Amino acid sequence: MVVAIDGPAGAGKSSVAYAVARELSFTYLDSGAMYRSVALAAIERGEPAAAIAGSLRVQPGERVLLDGRDVTDAIRAPAVSEAASRAAADPRVRSAMAARQRQMISHGDWVAEGRDIGTVVAPDAEVKVYLTATPEERARRRAAELCVDAGTVLAEQTIRDERDRARAHSPLKPAPGAVVLDTTNLTLEQVVARVIELVKAVCHPGGHH
Ligand code: C5P
Repeated sequence: MVVAIDGPAGAGKSSVAYAVARELSFTYLDSGAMYRSVALAAIERGEPAAAIAGSLRVQPGERVLLDGRDVTDAIRAPAVSEAASRAAADPRVRSAMAARQRQMISHGDWVAEGRDIGTVVAPDAEVKVYLTATPEERARRRAAELCVDAGTVLAEQTIRDERDRARAHSPLKPAPGAVVLDTTNLTLEQVVARVIELVKAVCHPGGHH
């Protein structure tokens, strides 16, 4: 079974996907970590992301490995966020990542998180969720997490969101059939519980909750 969780930055995707995966004993796939890893490699090598995306060995997981090297912390740098957002607009980078992600989730039970999981990578996912929150709330969460100024985060986030929504290939939008959840006034626990309800409804159709 595949649970697809998409949405803009700061909507709570990572925390929610990670918690849902743990609770259900599914494997968590952080697709953003893959775009970030490609962007980091492109910066380091001074080569375009599209030229190297197909040949890199990116292993997302508890620790993120790039050709065997642990880049878990390095891919969170602000410069990498910006470069990942740019690289993700390139269809060659997207098709390399999507192919790899499809292969990963083809066996077993997954909670996959990103921008295009429900629309492109796994349109047949049994459960599709689109998480949103107001831009201010999303920036506030990110700022608290990174211990930086919320105004700066909001400005940068707005640029990246716009790029994700406006790109020609796999733009960010709710997949057909996705349940849209506005998390602005919800706690992490409430969102996780709601997603788990959706999964259980698929496993036990007609059951009582
Ligand atoms: O989710 P995260 O912020 O780690 O993703 C980094 C960037 O990768 C995003 O800004 C987005 O542009 C891109 N991305 C994407 N499709 C995905 C996951 C991430 O375009 N499935």
